[in-house]
Amino acid sequence: MTQPKNNVLQVLKPKFRVEEVLKEIKECLDIGWSGMGFKTTEFEKEWSLKYQFKYSHFLNSATTGLHLAVKIMKDKYRWKDGDEIITSSLTFVSTNHAILYEQLSPVFADIDSSLCLDPESVEKMITPKTRAIMYIGIGGNAKNYKKIREICSDRNITLILDAAHMAGTSWVSGNHHVGLDADITVFSYQAVKNCPGNDAGMICSNDPELDAAARNLSWLGINKTTYDRYSKSSYSWEYDVPNLGFKYHGNSISAAMCLVSLRYLEEDNAYRRKLASWYFDRLSQSDHSNSEIEIIEHDDSIISSRHLFQISVNNRDEVLQKLASQDVYCGVHYIANHTYDIYKDFKADTKRATYYSQRILSLPLHLGLTEADVDRVSDILIS
Ligand SMILES: *Cc1c(COP(=O)(O)O)cnc(C)c1O
Repeated sequence: MTQPKNNVLQVLKPKFRVEEVLKEIKECLDIGWSGMGFKTTEFEKEWSLKYQFKYSHFLNSATTGLHLAVKIMKDKYRWKDGDEIITSSLTFVSTNHAILYEQLSPVFADIDSSLCLDPESVEKMITPKTRAIMYIGIGGNAKNYKKIREICSDRNITLILDAAHMAGTSWVSGNHHVGLDADITVFSYQAVKNCPGNDAGMICSNDPELDAAARNLSWLGINKTTYDRYSKSSYSWEYDVPNLGFKYHGNSISAAMCLVSLRYLEEDNAYRRKLASWYFDRLSQSDHSNSEIEIIEHDDSIISSRHLFQISVNNRDEVLQKLASQDVYCGVHYIANHTYDIYKDFKADTKRATYYSQRILSLPLHLGLTEADVDRVSDILIS
């Protein structure tokens, strides 16, 4: 395999503590259990304990978690096909696919300069058919989350939090994780997310009924797990299948990797914030600050996971090319979903989503970067 050149900077890159990960995985191999149960149970407990979610269920991705979130709430409240979920256009397509999987209609409200949902636009898009709001904490940010929470409470609307970028994002005041008060919160441990595993996710709530539904539906609708049957000394083969479920649960090898990432998550996020503050210093210096580079700031009421550092520029594609010509590879998170074919016929208020979709880019931000790397990227940008 060809190794990447030393001076190449990728936008996102996982850091794995290889020895520790192998030790966790070895435990699975030694006892002969790589499936659901064992390490998945251990990781669920650690996650709930650390961030105070009452219930956490480990899945094979956040995409499946978002689908389950929508399905469980649709079943519970008997939403009808065609009912509406207000969402953002500026997200990974998983968020909005989850709505379509359940024959519901995404309604795209606009974002503000934080790239998160704009509460004013959300209010405007509410109709008698609105059943839920999908809030996405882009880059680890939580701007307007509290306002969106209020809107949901006032109008009896379900709040689903796509926390794929938010592992560890907490409120400064109270120092607890953002999303404890959402109806359902979904995390991603995909390899380039800030708490990396090898494709995995978590669905969290404070409601035992929702947790039970998630566990049942993630395991094909079967009412007993294989691990339950295995671990209760006499292996009993009997089970029933009350629901049509999916094969969405996570496995012990993935959970082993996530357990190690969780151990370092706070420390890693702190270093991400440090990188972000270096970028901020370099890019907001007086002589070029007044126009060409708009920095997407994170709400100062949170301690952000800092999954991303995003900026907005007029000539995005030119800037991307220039950076790439010097081996700095950036990303775009995201192209507005309402511009994709399957989403173009839904209701949309997307002036700013369209604007930012054409201008934003994500600078390299991962644990392999140094202050000198930040200088290098900033110098190219400024020039
Ligand atoms: C990555 C991502 C997802 C999906 O996560 P997977 O674990 O890869 O399925 C969902 N929403 C957002 C905003 C994401 O960035």
